[in-house]
Amino acid sequence: MRIQTRTQVAIIGAGPSGLLLGQLLHKHGIDNVILERQTGEYVLGRVRAGVIEQVTIDLLDEAGVGARMHADGLVHEGVQICVDGVRHRISFKEMTGKAVMVYGQTEITKDLMDGRAAVGAPTIYAAYDVALHDISSEKPRVTFRADGKEQELLCDFIAGCDGFHGISRKTVAPTAITAHERVYPLGWLGVLSDTPPVSDELIYVRHPLGFALCSMRSPTRSRYYIQCSLAEDIESWPDERFWEELKPRLDQEARDRLVTGPSIEKSIAPLRSFVAEPMRFGRLFLAGDAAHIVPPTGAKGLNLAASDVRYLSQAFIEHYAEKSDAGLDHYSDRALARVWKAERFSWWMTMLMHRISDNSFDHKIQLAELDYLFRSKAAMTVFAENYVGLPY
Ligand SMILES: Cc1cc2nc3c(=O)[nH]c(=O)nc-3n(C[C@H](O)[C@H](O)[C@H](O)COP(=O)(O)OP(=O)(O)OC[C@H]3O[C@@H](n4cnc5c(N)ncnc54)[C@H](O)[C@@H]3O)c2cc1C
Repeated sequence: MRIQTRTQVAIIGAGPSGLLLGQLLHKHGIDNVILERQTGEYVLGRVRAGVIEQVTIDLLDEAGVGARMHADGLVHEGVQICVDGVRHRISFKEMTGKAVMVYGQTEITKDLMDGRAAVGAPTIYAAYDVALHDISSEKPRVTFRADGKEQELLCDFIAGCDGFHGISRKTVAPTAITAHERVYPLGWLGVLSDTPPVSDELIYVRHPLGFALCSMRSPTRSRYYIQCSLAEDIESWPDERFWEELKPRLDQEARDRLVTGPSIEKSIAPLRSFVAEPMRFGRLFLAGDAAHIVPPTGAKGLNLAASDVRYLSQAFIEHYAEKSDAGLDHYSDRALARVWKAERFSWWMTMLMHRISDNSFDHKIQLAELDYLFRSKAAMTVFAENYVGLPY
C-alpha cells in the first residue's frame, strides 16, 4: 500500500538549487517538499563551489539565511592572474564597482538546511527510486521509497533540482529536449587543506605545465587545483606529488608563501559545458545543474543555479499570489538567456587558461589574448563584469 501525501511544489534534490527554492517558496507561503536521494550528512560532505556573486548574496539574504555568510565570508574586490610566473591583478571594484564573496558551497548548504529545519519545512532524505509521473498533465506526481515504505507525492508542479545525473531531465522524452555539449580533454585535481592561503585573492595560473588555481575557503583553509588528464587515478596522487606539481606553476612570491600540509579532501572533477533546452516541460521545471553545467573556471555553476531559482521562485509566487502564469511561461527563455552568457564566459576562460593542446599557435593566441586583457581597460571591464555576475 502506497502512502499518499500532497504539496504544491515537489522539489527533487537538496543541493543549493532545491534548498534555496524551498526556502524562498516557504517564505511566500507556498507549500513544498524536497526529496533527496542521499543522506543529509552526505550532501553536506561534498566540497564544491566557493565564489559567489552579489546577486547570489542578495538571494541568500532574501531567503533569510545570509547572516553567517556576512560574518564569515571573505569579500574579494579583485582577482589575480599569473602568466608564466608574472602576476597581474584585475580590480572588480575599479572596473564595475562590485565585488564577489568567497564562502563555501558546503557552508551555504548548511545555512539553507538549518533555515529549512528552523521553519519545519519537510525534506525527505534517503528517498530512493524517485520517479516523476504525468508531467504533462495538471496533476503531476512523484513516487519514491523512504523508510522502507512506498510513497506517492501529489503536487501542482515539480522542480527538477537534482543535478546533472538526476532523474528529472531523464524523465523527458528525448525528442522534446535538445542538448548542447562540449567535453574538454582535462579535469581539475583539487586539494583542500587546513593551511593559510598563498594570497588574499584567488590566483588563476596559466603555465606551460598546465593550469592551476590558488583559492581558499577561509584565512586558514586553502583550496588548490591543478589541471590533470581525465585518465588520472586519484590513488596515484599522494599529497606530496600534488604539492610538487603545483609549486613550479606559481610565481616566486606565491612559491615562497605556499604552506603545504595534509589534504582533508582530494578529488578530480571533469570539465564540461552542457545546456539542455528548454528548461520547462509541462509542469516540470529544471533548475541548476539539472539543466546546465559549466567548467568551474569562471566560478559560475552555483551562481547560475541561484539565478534559475530566482526566476523560478518569482514565477511560482506570481502563479499562486497573483494568479498569473506569465513568469512560468517565460521561465525557460529568461533563464537560458543568462545561462548562455555564463556558458560563454566559462568556456572562454577555460580555453584561455588551460593547456588544451600542444599546438604552438594555440599557445601564442592565449598569450596575445592575456596580454591584451592586461593592457586594455575595456577588456578588463568585460572580464570583471562577467566574473562578478551579469545583471538579471
Ligand atoms: C566536483 C565539483 C566541483 C565544483 N566546483 C565548483 C566551483 O569551484 N565553482 C562553482 O561555481 N561551481 C562548482 N561546481 C558546480 C556547483 O557545485 C554546482 O553548479 C551546484 O552544486 C549546482 O547545484 P544544484 O543544486 O543545481 O545541483 P547539485 O548540487 O548537484 O544538487 C543536486 C542534488 O540532487 C540530488 N539527486 C540527484 N539525483 C536524485 C534523484 N534521482 N532523486 C533525488 N535526489 C537526487 C543529489 O544527491 C544532489 O544533492 C562544482 C561541481 C562539482 C561536481
